[in-house]
Amino acid sequence: MSDCIFCKIIKGDIPSANVYRDEQVTAIRDINPAAPTHILILPNRHIDSVNALSNDDEQLIGHLFTTAKQLAAQAGVADGGYRLIMNTGADGGQTVFHIHLHFLGGAPMKHPMG
Ligand code: 5GP
Ligand code: ZN
Repeated sequence: MSDCIFCKIIKGDIPSANVYRDEQVTAIRDINPAAPTHILILPNRHIDSVNALSNDDEQLIGHLFTTAKQLAAQAGVADGGYRLIMNTGADGGQTVFHIHLHFLGGAPMKHPMG
């Protein structure tokens, strides 16, 4: 998607603090962090949101989570815990319509959500 900010970041057209990359996903630091460690895990292929997922995407979405597990270990927050969020649509708080998994850690998360 030519007008998608995350596609531009993945292509390297817009700079970002990359923390991980493989053939399926790219992980970047959120520009406006909501926790000491706030990483966004993006599929390299554009998908608008959870609403646009197909069965063929199941392995890819699983890979977002196994990447989160790996990043948690690297950041030293695996044992302490962390929060993974995927906002969907306007009421879900989604502002960038390229699907992404938020990784929030490094401090106790607040409850209740929503
Ligand atoms: P959403 O609200 O869609 O769930 O999350 C979008 C996230 O992307 C927000 O937390 C926002 O701070 C982050 N974000 C928006 N634009 C940029 C950008 O250009 N670079 C980076 N690294 N993060 C961004
Ligand atoms: Zn995109």
